[in-house]
Amino acid sequence: MAKKNILIFGPPGAGKGTQAVKLKNLLIVPHISTGDMFRENIKNDTDLGKQAREYSSKGELVPDEATIAMVKDRLSRDDVKEGFLLDGFPRSVPQAESLDRILSDLGKSLDAVVNLAVSDEEVRSRLSKRAGIEGRADDADPAVIQNRIDTYKNQSEPCLSHYRPRGIVKDIDGIGTIEEIFKRIADLF
Ligand code: AMP
Repeated sequence: MAKKNILIFGPPGAGKGTQAVKLKNLLIVPHISTGDMFRENIKNDTDLGKQAREYSSKGELVPDEATIAMVKDRLSRDDVKEGFLLDGFPRSVPQAESLDRILSDLGKSLDAVVNLAVSDEEVRSRLSKRAGIEGRADDADPAVIQNRIDTYKNQSEPCLSHYRPRGIVKDIDGIGTIEEIFKRIADLF
């Protein structure tokens, strides 16, 4: 595949971040993670960080206005000329529609949506384990974990139906070792 405008998609705990780092090294494109961008803002206590903390600590989505503006700004930079790997955006159908507009205004389009599939049970078990390892505030509380799973099901998963008719969704079995899963992804490119 020559073009490299890629989106990595899947429930919280699917391994998006881990696989995205490996894939961006393979494709040599910037990794744009909205979760990482919000965490950076939270760490630096910016106005955006204050807003993001309020929502992410509950397992809810940061409002679209702030999120979409942040992504639009990032995708307008020069370093995405040869491609990008978007991770954690879009997370709702309105965000997917905004992304279509942003990309079309920039003369770009998506080439692939890599969908990492894992069961609800596996998600729950991975998120609880990650709480102990990474110390992420939004992984610590079972009610917050449940909220993130529900938010994914209700708001984010419908994005797949937005993209499927275009034939760009690549479903990847997200169960296995990091290397096994990465091989499945790398084989697409
Ligand atoms: P992540 O690291 O991708 O799981 O993101 C951590 C948290 O950041 C999420 O639970 C949301 O609160 C917030 N977040 C990340 N991406 C988005 C997005 N596209 N829209 C709204 N909120 C987001």
